[in-house]
Amino acid sequence: SYRKGGYHAVRVGDQFNGGRYVAQRKLGWGQFSTVWLAYDTTSSKYVALKIQKSAAQFAQAALHEIEVLSTIANGDPSNSKCVVRLIDHFKHAGPNGQHLCMVLEFLGDSLLRLIKYRRYKGIELKKVREICKCILIALDYLHRELGIIHTDLKPENILLFSTIDPTKDPFRSGLTPILERPEGNPNGGVTMNIIEKKLKRRARRAVAKISERRASMGGALEPLKSEKKLDGIDVRCKVVDFGNACWADNQFAEEIQTRQYRAPEVILQSGYSYSVDMWSFGCIAFELATGDMMFAPKGGQGFSEDEDHLALMVELLGKIPRKVAIGGARSKDLFDRYGDLKRIRRLKYWSLDKLLIEKYKFSENDAREFAEFLCPLLDFAPEKRPTAQQCLQHPWLNLSDSTQREMKNEPNVEKVNVGMSNLQLKVGK
Ligand code: ADP
Ligand code: MG
Repeated sequence: SYRKGGYHAVRVGDQFNGGRYVAQRKLGWGQFSTVWLAYDTTSSKYVALKIQKSAAQFAQAALHEIEVLSTIANGDPSNSKCVVRLIDHFKHAGPNGQHLCMVLEFLGDSLLRLIKYRRYKGIELKKVREICKCILIALDYLHRELGIIHTDLKPENILLFSTIDPTKDPFRSGLTPILERPEGNPNGGVTMNIIEKKLKRRARRAVAKISERRASMGGALEPLKSEKKLDGIDVRCKVVDFGNACWADNQFAEEIQTRQYRAPEVILQSGYSYSVDMWSFGCIAFELATGDMMFAPKGGQGFSEDEDHLALMVELLGKIPRKVAIGGARSKDLFDRYGDLKRIRRLKYWSLDKLLIEKYKFSENDAREFAEFLCPLLDFAPEKRPTAQQCLQHPWLNLSDSTQREMKNEPNVEKVNVGMSNLQLKVGK
């Protein structure tokens, strides 16, 4: 997609906006954009440069995102609301067309990465609480103060503060920002890719070696480096990616949210509001604490992905109130007149706190307290879900860690991960 209307090819040392920003290395990409670490020669700081594909529909989407991000920045002069800050925006002409560019504050790894670092075993509750607080501060600000619904909350779209000093980045040769394209090397970017790949391969080998040693020590005690990454860090994060955000009173999409984080009213097409973000937030909190997605639906023979998704919800949260089940444009297709799913009949119920205890080895206390926090967020009736503001008052967020309380009396039993999600327990489908 590096062609007319598509991505803009960037090389290390490329300059943007009249030389103010200098490309350092690629940070990531999405459907619509590539994102580069860039050096801002005016502020002498590193920034993230999001370069949109050039075709009209992408430019339109970028303009919308810029509008939302500007509203967010204007309403939060002290930059304390846990939402990514837009610093600047401009147009950049390249061989593939005009690209809208957004300059954002430079942030670190996403929560998805963090979950992977922890090898899908879940993050300790104390840190989950810290992350949840940040997300709620962001949601309360967006919802109550700005009237904005994010509509695509997921671990990928929540980034930790960067703990890496890019000047000491191991993938970089020098310790100072690159201000020009590396000399005699017209394909700077490509070369960097090769170097990065080599370094990554080396890192992977090192990790494999450590794992081997751990295994030979009988499943040893010393944590991997990646597991240490979070120890002792005050975990703070910010919400990013406002490409799909909308004003509650000016919605344009019916199908919103990434599948696993999608609220039931979106599936049923019964209209939505701020509470769709609260549903996604509940799913994220569960995933952080357990390492598993709360709902990972799949289509199958005789039923669709939507139907599997609803069945998984019912198995964990109980029956959908009839009024909610029959209230959407798609209800007739999915439910019978009693409000039961038409095509998936035999469900296996497993309550959230039992699941936390039995599968994820939570202590009874932790499970009960966490389930009490989560369940209201996952109410089938959207208007019954707590607002972000109410949620911020929930005692769970300020509990001292009961695991720590108990650890003083109990041996430290390591969590056992039982493979695939136990939420997939339907029988005879
Ligand atoms: P898209 O709208 O195309 O999905 P995103 O805004 O989600 O683009 O950005 C794509 C990726 O770029 C992210 O998943 C992340 O890895 C990286 N990224 C985005 N914004 C930042 C930032 N401010 N700091 C660091 N990395 C970022
Ligand atoms: Mg994205």
